[in-house]
Amino acid sequence: MNAFSLEGKTALVTGANTGIGQAIAIALGQAGAHVICAGRSDCSGTSSQIASGETLTLDFTDPIAAKDVFAERPIDILINNAGIIRRADSTDFSEADWDAVIDVNLKAVFFTAQAFAKAVFARKAKGKIVNIASLLSFQGGIRVPSYTASKHGVAGLTKILCNEWAIHGINVNAIAPGYIATNNTKALRNDPARNKSILDRIPSGRWGQPEDIAQTAVYLSAPASDYVNGAVLNVDGGWLAR
Ligand code: NAP
Repeated sequence: MNAFSLEGKTALVTGANTGIGQAIAIALGQAGAHVICAGRSDCSGTSSQIASGETLTLDFTDPIAAKDVFAERPIDILINNAGIIRRADSTDFSEADWDAVIDVNLKAVFFTAQAFAKAVFARKAKGKIVNIASLLSFQGGIRVPSYTASKHGVAGLTKILCNEWAIHGINVNAIAPGYIATNNTKALRNDPARNKSILDRIPSGRWGQPEDIAQTAVYLSAPASDYVNGAVLNVDGGWLAR
């Protein structure tokens, strides 16, 4: 048996049209999975790069948008990747920016995981959940209060869901990406002072690429990680070691 193979498995990746989600979807496909590329935007640019891929519209403006998705067909792997960030000084931060980020990054993660787990248990099957956390699951950040709260929450959810579901055969883990070059971090890369201070602190000396996260997601979706439960795994070029 190849412990890293996903042959015969079906995975659903949220936010699969771009960035980290796109790279994860493609990597899961390369490992042999059938991949449902889900997003509020069209994900056909991703699914077309996967041997066995399809698209699904899922907009977490409604955080329980995925409630019926898993009852309709067997899905073995859930990658909770969709996420947004809003930046403003905490003194000025609006309720709208608070709610928007918490809904997509935290509430949708929980209710999508809940819907997935109910369906897996109903089938008496096993499953894997990989949540995309952040360095701001551990650190405070600056000018991103709802993002930091949401990503600390994702780390906490990863642990409680592990505690409840590991015994029933669902592995729940998270990846905490470091500074990865995607749309999400464009503002930081375009600010020369922030860009330099970030790079100066990364031991590996470079921004991460979405592909750096993707193979970790394959590992956490595959039999190789069957005894990994409740972990929040840093993939950050060494940032948190500094
Ligand atoms: P990205 O390129 O901005 O991708 C974010 C994805 O989330 C997009 O597919 C986006 O869809 C989707 N999304 C946003 N709002 C949504 C909604 N209401 N419903 C459904 N999907 C929605 O950023 P990324 O860097 O790849 O981010 C992916 C994940 O990694 C996020 O959870 C982010 O917090 C996390 N992360 C990123 C970094 C980094 O350095 N880049 C570091 C730590 C954690 P649209 O394209 O339609 O907006």
